[in-house]
Amino acid sequence: MQDTAQTLAETALATEIRACRLCAERFAATATAHAPRPVVWFRPGARLLIAGQAPGARVHESGRPFTDPSGDRLRDWLGIDEATFYDLSRVAVVPMGFCFPGYDNKGSDLPPPPVCGRTWHNRVMAELADMPLTVLVGGHAHRYHLGARGAVTETVAAWRDHAPRVFALPHPSWRNTGWLKKNPWFETDLLPVLRARVKEVLHDPGNPD
Ligand code: SF4
Repeated sequence: MQDTAQTLAETALATEIRACRLCAERFAATATAHAPRPVVWFRPGARLLIAGQAPGARVHESGRPFTDPSGDRLRDWLGIDEATFYDLSRVAVVPMGFCFPGYDNKGSDLPPPPVCGRTWHNRVMAELADMPLTVLVGGHAHRYHLGARGAVTETVAAWRDHAPRVFALPHPSWRNTGWLKKNPWFETDLLPVLRARVKEVLHDPGNPD
């Protein structure tokens, strides 16, 4: 798929992250024994930041963020197609861990390695300052960006406290399908406001607020 990666040069910081191998030993000790492959997807000037958790196995293979069913659901929540989602001039995707962390003994993805956030996140956020819209995907992003300490449901239910510049969402994983059924207000109340805001910031670059 064509995207703007070829035409928008990445920053020195992005190149530095792409070469990071800090978690090589940690990942070698997991069941998949994989090597680090940072999925780096941001350029200064983007207007929508998707702050996620960590790539899954499919994204580890593709090297592009959200090339999986979670991505399909997330794009539906945002009301944007793939061409827009992968337009680096408009959308940045920055997870709390840039690499696939491997699986735990139940077959779930391990949490993002804390060393990743400590090493890179503040520097990346400095390059992406003054973002008109930040979408936080999952509890790890809620904790870093909002200092949230409560349950994900509590943080998402309080979405009006941070809108319209920040929206806290659950993770779009199929594992949260039950959560979506239990919390219908997410689709009826939050999503229409989020989609309108996405449209506004992506289609009206002259309006920063
Ligand atoms: S998860 Fe982060 S800190 Fe660990 S190797 Fe990947 S980029 Fe480096």
